[in-house]
Amino acid sequence: MKYMPSLIYPSIYEIDFNKLYASGKRIILSDLDNTIASYDELTPSEKQIMWNEDLRKLGFKIYLVSNNQDKRLIEFTKTFKVDGFIAKAKKPFTSKMEKYLNIHNINKEEVVALGDQLVTDISGFNKLGVTSILVKTINQKNQKWYTKINRIREKQILKNIKKEDFDKYNQIKVFYE
Ligand SMILES: [Mg+2]
Repeated sequence: MKYMPSLIYPSIYEIDFNKLYASGKRIILSDLDNTIASYDELTPSEKQIMWNEDLRKLGFKIYLVSNNQDKRLIEFTKTFKVDGFIAKAKKPFTSKMEKYLNIHNINKEEVVALGDQLVTDISGFNKLGVTSILVKTINQKNQKWYTKINRIREKQILKNIKKEDFDKYNQIKVFYE
C-alpha cells in the first residue's frame, strides 16, 4: 500500500539509527516542517543540532526534502548542518527527488526517509523506493490549510492501514489522539 510507512516512531529522537546504520543505511532524507522543527521554529534548537551531530558521528549524510520555500531551508540550515536540501520538492511527486538523488549519486538502498505526513511524505518516499519512517507531527495547531485537508484524507487512509497491518495501525493511531 502506497501510504504504509516502513517504520513508525513517536519522534525523530526515538529512531534507532544504530540499527539502520548496521543494516546498510547511510543517507537520511528528511522532511523539515513538523518532522524536525515546527513551522514557527525558524532556527534549530540545541536538541535538534545535537541530534544532527550525533547522526553525523554515526556516519550518516543528511539531506532535507521540503515542500517549503528556499528561504525557509537556507535560514534553518545556517546552523543545522546538511549535505544538501531540496526546497519546493513537490512531494508526493517524485521527479524532483529522483533527479536530485541521481545528480548526487545517492543509492536508494542506503536511504532512510523521514516525514510526518502520510499523504505527502510517506506516499512520496514509497513511490521513490526508499525506506520510509513516519513520525508524529510536532505541532498540529499551526499547520497550513492544505495540510489540514490532507489530515482529513489521512482518516480514510488510516482505515485502510488498519485492514492491512493492525500493529502499524495501533502505532499510528495514537498520533491522532
Ligand atoms: Mg512535514
